Amino acid sequence: MSKDIATPNRTRAIIDKYKFVLKKSLGQNFLIDLNILQNIVNAAELTDQSFVIEVGPGIGALTEQLAKRAKKVVAFEIDNRLIPVLADTLADYENVQVIHNDILKANVHEVIHKEFGPDSDVMVVANLPYYITTPILMKLLEEKLPIQGIVVMIQKEVAERIAAKPGTKEYGSLSIAAQYYAKAETVLTVPKTVFVPQPNVDSAVLRLTIRENPIVEVDDEDFFFQVVRASFAQRRKTILNNLIHNLSLKEQKSALEEVLTVSKIDPKRRGETLSIQEFAELSNKLLRIVNP
Ligand code: SAM
Repeated sequence: MSKDIATPNRTRAIIDKYKFVLKKSLGQNFLIDLNILQNIVNAAELTDQSFVIEVGPGIGALTEQLAKRAKKVVAFEIDNRLIPVLADTLADYENVQVIHNDILKANVHEVIHKEFGPDSDVMVVANLPYYITTPILMKLLEEKLPIQGIVVMIQKEVAERIAAKPGTKEYGSLSIAAQYYAKAETVLTVPKTVFVPQPNVDSAVLRLTIRENPIVEVDDEDFFFQVVRASFAQRRKTILNNLIHNLSLKEQKSALEEVLTVSKIDPKRRGETLSIQEFAELSNKLLRIVNP
């Protein structure tokens, strides 16, 4: 019998041995296809010097493949029932450490510093729990962790929104939030049949390559994202109307129109047509009106 965890037979045997009942509420869809796992690991371009943070190891299907390639893997798992299972399935891999914690509550900075040391080559690789894909990705990006990139299996629809270009219907505040920090690309799309149990949605592997500095210079990050969110609040409305209503700028309408004109943005355009550079220029100029 193959040693790999990610085969239908071995996965079934592990689940049976521990009488493990999968929890839908924790997004527990385990991967049972070695080929897909190889593709995920390949997309992360690991070397024997790489350190990996994994989110949600489950019964260890991906963790095992990462451990074979990387120097060390630290995996955060929220479900306490999986901790003894992982101790068993990954017993042969001394370079794996499982931390029982919610990734959204974990101090990932501290763990990277403690477990990997400074100046190391760190990747985040995961088959994410789909119910919290966006909060996890935004946490990893906003905390400005010392990582090179993120390779994750997520819902296809979310991957498309993250990697979307201006002028498409998928383009929105999530695309800008992710692309501000990283270069985003969908590496492959994945059929439902490679999971147990099968999820309701199609999946894709997304690669985010972290930029050394954000792609645009903004004077106030919070305000920049506020402007972006306001511009997409009602997608059918013009940028002018969205900004007036969602940033409460009714009194400053003419100043706002002037900022748009000076920024060479037609006030009748919709938010979805603006590039990230245009949003940066707009928010930097608008900040002077809002915060004179
Ligand atoms: N990596 C395994 C695989 O590919 O077969 C399992 C992936 S499964 C889609 C998601 C995993 O994330 C589950 O093991 C689940 O218990 C875990 N999980 C869910 N919410 C979590 C959280 N907030 N923090 C850490 N792990 C979480």
